[in-house]
Formats: sequence, C-alpha cells, structure tokens
Amino acid sequence: MLPTKQFLSAALLLLSPSFGAATIDIGSYLSNTILVRDVAIIGGGSSGTYAAVQLKRSGYSVAVVEKAGRLGGHVDTYQDPATGAALDYGVVALLNTSVVRDYFSFFNEGLTTFTTDPSITGVYANFKKDGKIAAPPATVPWADPAAVFASLLGYGAQISQYPFLVDGYNLPNPVPEDLLLPFGEFLSKHNLGALAGTFFNLVSGVGNLLATTTLYVFKYVPKTTIDAFSGLGTPPLTSTGNGFQALYNKAFAYLGSGANVILNAKVRVIERDGPRVLVAVTTPSGPKLIIAKELLVAVQPKLSVLQEIGLDLTREERGIFGQFNNSYYWDIVIKNSGLPADLSFTNADFDAPLGIAPLPGIQNISPARVKDLTLTYYTSPSSKTDAEVKADVLATLARLRTANNFTAAGASPAAPELVGFNNHQPFWLTVPPAAIASGFYGQLNGLQGKKKTWWTGATFVAHDSSAIWAWSEASLLPKLKAAL
Ligand SMILES: Cc1cc2nc3c(=O)[nH]c(=O)nc-3n(C[C@H](O)[C@H](O)[C@H](O)COP(=O)(O)OP(=O)(O)OC[C@H]3O[C@@H](n4cnc5c(N)ncnc54)[C@H](O)[C@@H]3O)c2cc1C
Repeated sequence: MLPTKQFLSAALLLLSPSFGAATIDIGSYLSNTILVRDVAIIGGGSSGTYAAVQLKRSGYSVAVVEKAGRLGGHVDTYQDPATGAALDYGVVALLNTSVVRDYFSFFNEGLTTFTTDPSITGVYANFKKDGKIAAPPATVPWADPAAVFASLLGYGAQISQYPFLVDGYNLPNPVPEDLLLPFGEFLSKHNLGALAGTFFNLVSGVGNLLATTTLYVFKYVPKTTIDAFSGLGTPPLTSTGNGFQALYNKAFAYLGSGANVILNAKVRVIERDGPRVLVAVTTPSGPKLIIAKELLVAVQPKLSVLQEIGLDLTREERGIFGQFNNSYYWDIVIKNSGLPADLSFTNADFDAPLGIAPLPGIQNISPARVKDLTLTYYTSPSSKTDAEVKADVLATLARLRTANNFTAAGASPAAPELVGFNNHQPFWLTVPPAAIASGFYGQLNGLQGKKKTWWTGATFVAHDSSAIWAWSEASLLPKLKAAL
C-alpha cells in the first residue's frame, strides 16, 4: 500500500489529460467529487461488504458502490410495525465458524443458535393442483424417516469424496462424472431418492431439483450444512433481536458512511486500461469518480449486469461471463395468510418423479416467529414478473385455505397482504455440464487479478455467506492485498 501522500501525488498525475485512451473525462469532475482509493468495490452485499470491512481493518482505503439504499444484498430484515420485532426472511442462518463469529463480534452484533420451532408441524400439499393436505404415500421414498436419515448419511459419504469443493470451484481435470449428472440421476445411481424431500426445501432458489447439475447441489449443501442442520455437527447461528441488517448498518458506519459507501448509485462506466481503474458513478447528489489501484467486482457477473455497469469487458471476459444462465428467486412475508400458525406447508406432487413438485412455484409456506406473519419462498428456472409471482402466491393461499377449510375453522378473516417482497434475480449462476467438463471454472478463476480486477461473491464460492467469507479470507484477500 502506498502512503497517502505518495498516492495523492499519483492521483494528481492521473488528472493529466494524457491518461490512457479514456472516455471518462477526469477534468470534468470537481475535486470534491473524486475519490482516490486503494480498492473500488462494486456491490455492497455479503461478499462486497465483507471484503470492504476486512480491507479497511488492514489499513487500506476503499470505496463501495451499491445500487440499493442499504448494504446487505440478499439480507432482508422486516421491521414489523405491530410488534416492533425484526424478522429476517432473506439470509436466516449462518454456519458456526470462527470467521462468522469474528465478523459479528467485531461489530458487537449478537448471534444465537438457530433452532426450529417444535410447536410447528410439517405437512404436504400439492400447491398447484388442489392444495389439500396429504401424507406422502409409501411409493415416495422420503415417506420413511429411517430412509431419510440413511440417505443423509449416504450423501455425506458421497460428498466427502470431493474435498476440493469446500473452497471455491477448484475442480480437477477431468471433472468427476457424478458431479456432472442431473441430481435426479445421481440420486437413482446411489439409491439416495429418500433425500429428495429434504433437499426440495434446502436447495431453494436454484430451479428444478432433479434437473440441477449435482455439482451445484453439492456446492449449495456441503457436508457442514447437512451436519449442522441434522444435529450431527455444531448447529448453525442466527441473528439476535436486531436482524442481520443491523450488522450491515454497522458496517456502513464503520466504512465511513457516505464518504466511502455510495448508496443508490448507478455505475455508469468502468475503465481499466490506464495505470488506475476509473469508475464513473451517478449518485443522488451528482456524479462521482473513483480512482483506484484495484477493482473488486462483487455483483453477480451475468454479462447483462456487467454491461449495465459499463465495464470495459475484454473478449475473454465476454466469452466466460456470457455462458452463465441464472435462476429466479423471491422471498416474501405475508400478513394474515389465513393459514394456521402451527403448520408449515411444503409443496409436493406425489405423482411426479420422487414426489417433487415441479417449479416455477412456491416451495414452502411457514409461520414466521412474529405473530400473524408467514414466510414463503418462490423459485423459477425462467423469468417471471413480480406481478405473476404475487398472483400465484395469493392464489395458492386461497387454494390451501379452501381445500383445508381453514376459513371455516376461524382463521383470520383479513385479506392476505404481501408486506415483504423481494426479487433476488439473477440468483444462482450456472453453466451446462459440458462447459464444466471443458474447464469453465478454471477459466473463470483465471480471471482473478487480470486487468487490476478481482471477482467475488456466490458465483465464485456458493450461495452461502459463511463460505464466501471463509474463501475471502483464505483465497481472495491475500492475493488482492499483495497486488496493492
Ligand atoms: C432469500 C435468500 C435466502 C438466503 N438465505 C441464506 C442463509 O440463510 N444463509 C446463507 O449463508 N446464505 C443465504 N443466502 C445466500 C446468500 O445470501 C448469498 O449467497 C450472498 O448474499 C451472496 O453474496 P454476494 O455478495 O455474491 O451477492 P449479494 O449479497 O446479492 O450482493 C450483491 C450486491 O450487489 C448489488 N448490486 C447489484 N447490481 C448492482 C449494480 N449494477 N451496481 C451496484 N451494486 C449492484 C446488490 O444490490 C447487492 O447488494 C440466501 C439468499 C437468498 C436470496
């Protein structure tokens, strides 16, 4: 890291008109709108905020540019006006690791053991067909709890054969055949069909479970997660009273608030050809320019997203990021669902393979820990409008109420209201098995550090914040710091 004075003179040098073949006109920016920093970070969700905090803790200067009006990304904390309670309905649980505990203790934010509510009973219904509660027939392999437990152990044994999956996507060549199978075929091959019911709920937001490539299921549900949630390992952690958003609000203050974190921002252009990275940003208070030694991209790297931020993509980057497909995922808080507060509904189709309900659709509807509130999660493998999702949720609630006579049983007569509703697209970024087999992830990882650019987030690790932060510590940050 250059001392501040030296870096400032480097910045002055940059202000000369001969800087690169830039289309960003540095001279058009007032000096008080230019931020000279070690690292410019695009995206202030889980990965971007973590990296920003750790870089600052190590003495580096950062500027974080975030599209939303807050840090936190997939964290959604609903503040219930009726009770004052904070309810997490995006990120709800984190693995109990030293990296997670250190991060929260640095901000003096509490964590507590994640538990399920024993007063709630799980039931099944076909949400699309009739909504009637039905017990899984014996033809469905996950109807037998002993078979489910045995299959969880079997999954643990299978996934343990691939220790390289724990840290990012460092796949061997050739990629093991099982990792490339659709998960349905993997389950039949290893006689693990009894996993399907549990995994339908666990692998949320990805798409049709049985069609999902096994590699991605393994990345989403590592052995540590199975152990944590099945009682075989240390249980996961959840936020205490303030919700996870509180951590991000403290991170915002720690990073220097508006001085170093630009919220409600639109990145217009990013240029990397000169001696420094230039990031031109439109903000509610006018245009800003960040001049940084290195760039950290912490948004989902779909080609469309990277084009939206005006990144001067190379042919190699276009070729790699252009291969990504993505799933679509919504999290929703319902007030007055009209469903009983002691039943958790899972969507099932006992006539479909392994009893798994096809998506798009709702995976689960469960009572929240706050009175009169219910949570639901909606997944689609293809694009859907928010209006379509809302209509489907309300129609499903009506079907469940009518089919099971909940209204007659005296449930709340008030109309359901979607008081929390977030569209998390693009959610899981995937490539086809043939691309994985041809070394896609080696090429993706090979981009790290090229053109003063570093990449982080779920696409490089997994949709698991504890895994992202552990990977940031072990892989990303040491290399990024060495480049400064
Ligand atoms: C509903 C839901 C529940 C989840 N539950 C859990 C859980 O319980 N435990 C767990 O560990 N993980 C959970 N996850 C997964 C986890 O939260 C994600 O994997 C993690 O947030 C990924 O971090 P990220 O930094 O890659 O992306 P994000 O956290 O999404 O961060 C990306 C950030 O970039 C910003 N951004 C996007 N476009 C732009 C742009 N053009 N300019 C500037 N900024 C932009 C976004 O607003 C966002 O803040 C959940 C995810 C969802 C959606």
